[in-house]
Amino acid sequence: MSISQLARSIKESPTLKLNETAAKLREKGEPVIHLGGGEPKSKAPLDAVINCASQLNTGEIRYAPADGLPALKKAVLRYTEEHYRHLASPDNVVVSSGAKQAIMVLLYAILEPKDEVVFPAPYWVSYPEMVKLAGGTPVAVTAEDGSFQPSLQEMAEAIGPYAKAVILNSPNNPCGVMYGAEFIAGMVELCEKKNLWLVMDDLYNRLVFDGKAAPNPYEFVKNQAEISKLVLVQGVSKMYAMTGFRIGWAIANKEVASAMATIQSHQTSGPATPSQWAAIGALSGVQSCIETLRLTLQNNRDVMLDRLATLEGVKVQKPDGTFYCFPDFRAYSKDSMKLAERLLEQVRVVTVPGREFGMEGFLRLSYCGSIKEIMEGLERIKWALDPNAPNELFLGDRKLVRDWA
Ligand code: PMP
Repeated sequence: MSISQLARSIKESPTLKLNETAAKLREKGEPVIHLGGGEPKSKAPLDAVINCASQLNTGEIRYAPADGLPALKKAVLRYTEEHYRHLASPDNVVVSSGAKQAIMVLLYAILEPKDEVVFPAPYWVSYPEMVKLAGGTPVAVTAEDGSFQPSLQEMAEAIGPYAKAVILNSPNNPCGVMYGAEFIAGMVELCEKKNLWLVMDDLYNRLVFDGKAAPNPYEFVKNQAEISKLVLVQGVSKMYAMTGFRIGWAIANKEVASAMATIQSHQTSGPATPSQWAAIGALSGVQSCIETLRLTLQNNRDVMLDRLATLEGVKVQKPDGTFYCFPDFRAYSKDSMKLAERLLEQVRVVTVPGREFGMEGFLRLSYCGSIKEIMEGLERIKWALDPNAPNELFLGDRKLVRDWA
């Protein structure tokens, strides 16, 4: 069989693969704890479900405009005005099958072969592969000081003559760090000066803790909307816990939005209409679910940090938002893939190796599950790694006695 060079150059999504492995083990009755997940466990908002169901009941489920139903665009514009104080028009909105597709069609619309796309490390696993799919070259920027946020100067130095775009994801998957207003302002200014696209992947910007608020990139934009190369990416997946509906969007200047819509029209003919109705319901309905989720996640984060603190040698930076943290496990293993495999094999805990996010020696742990899962998951990790842990551990009704110490 001959697989294309493009297909061979792309890695499988490690998070989706882990989900599969965990599901298979669970099917076999194994007591798996999933700390690798990327979706909140709360239910989709009732308004989303009702709006979707009532449209489904009509039995008339048809094609819609490739870049989104007018009613959804209207809801998106209202959301953007309320939360970003940014006025846009329907021609600036492209609704896609998840924020993932919005980013993907944007990259198709702006990249020439080998154009570079620059983003800080750690980064969302899909950025490098998506850039490669669109023919570009990913450039990850790692902070010299070992922190999770390169300085403005480090970002500027990484932007060479072939750079076409910068992607910023804040608060950040996998580390939960939120870039400060000064950094965002500096990046907006730098991208305007260098005439680069700036993609703000804001998917987690409502899931921020400790009374903080995510900076609004539009506050720093100097260029008028129609020549601005700032593209805002948002979606319902995380803030409304609606990952399975697959609805995200981009707000961009009209020229690129139109190019994205054309590409999307040939790719998928636009997102599934029932999902769009659900998104309209979510955006127009009662909003308290976001705050409830945010508070739950903040509490879960605190429990996870508390437990992690008992693991000798593990260092972790307190996440400002998201539902992930990114502890440094180098005291136990320099190879995050081997460590993740060992934890799954030995104590049936799913984690995601930091290598996939551009930082070796770290593991991404999610706290979007229940407190029980977090506590038990961390207890198992401690048992597997930390010599100070009790010698015995129960996995379901199976008793494990440590024999490796
Ligand atoms: N950006 C980031 C940073 C993400 O973490 C994710 C989901 N894991 C996405 C984009 C894609 O979101 P969606 O499910 O809406 O495609």
